[in-house]
Amino acid sequence: MAGYYNADTILFLDGEYVKAAEAKIDLFSQTMHYGYGVFEGIRSYESSTGETVVFKSTEHYERLQKSAEALNIPFTYSVESLTEATYEVLRQNKLGDAYIRPLIFLPANMSFNPNTSSHLLITAWEMQPFLGENLVRLMTSSFQRPNPKGFKIHAKACGHYVNSIMASHEAKANGYDEALLLDMNGYAAEGPGANLFIEVDGVLFTPPAGHILTGITRNTVLEIADELDIPIAEKHFTPEEMKRADSAFYCGTAAEVIGIQSLDDTVFAKPWQQTQGARIQKAYKALVRQPLEAFSNM
Ligand code: PMP
Repeated sequence: MAGYYNADTILFLDGEYVKAAEAKIDLFSQTMHYGYGVFEGIRSYESSTGETVVFKSTEHYERLQKSAEALNIPFTYSVESLTEATYEVLRQNKLGDAYIRPLIFLPANMSFNPNTSSHLLITAWEMQPFLGENLVRLMTSSFQRPNPKGFKIHAKACGHYVNSIMASHEAKANGYDEALLLDMNGYAAEGPGANLFIEVDGVLFTPPAGHILTGITRNTVLEIADELDIPIAEKHFTPEEMKRADSAFYCGTAAEVIGIQSLDDTVFAKPWQQTQGARIQKAYKALVRQPLEAFSNM
């Protein structure tokens, strides 16, 4: 079970709340065989007033819908109903700080013909935030990000993650914490599951859309930077240029905002606590714990 569920866990499957241990899927599902499906990764936090708040639920379910549409996967739910189901899953499992995993998977279909229906799963498990001082050591991966002419790279599709898994395995096998993937043109793109920012002379730079999943956390970082008056720009840069930066960080729903110590053993000069990334990290940490009410006023 690996900590994701136990005998009491309830998940949402095709409109019903069922026990995880008793839920079944068809082994002939097109998703099982070809990685053809779409998913999300969302977090909930126990807010400063003690309620459970799903961070940017609407943005995540809108992206799920867009991912499904990009891949011709039937999507028959409203974003509102998915948010409601998510809160119900959290309530039934008594979860506060949690990771939520919606997945749209396909019925039995060994052909490459389009589907007329799809299945929806929403499950969640406890996950503590791991924002902090643990800076990560990166290795430039030998795996490039997929060519956007071969994949709908802006979609969060199951099969894309073979690329992420291979890159992460390679980095760990070589003694690093995580991979940095380049795009097909040799520019720094993103991590296996996180977006990249670097700091040069107080300005933040992040790779533009095209070869990356433009993350919801990346958008949040852009919003926070705006509020804190931190200058920021989208720009391509090479790993060599990145190594000359003052600091760098990854961001993503699961990773939150996490500082990068080094790339291929070149250590970033600025102590993390003095970086723009550390300021953003602090603001992000506070933002995700705001009561629900605070978000409706934004
Ligand atoms: N890039 C990739 C490849 C990812 O898998 C993720 C995680 N969804 C991200 C970036 C960050 O996206 P988000 O901030 O929406 O979680």
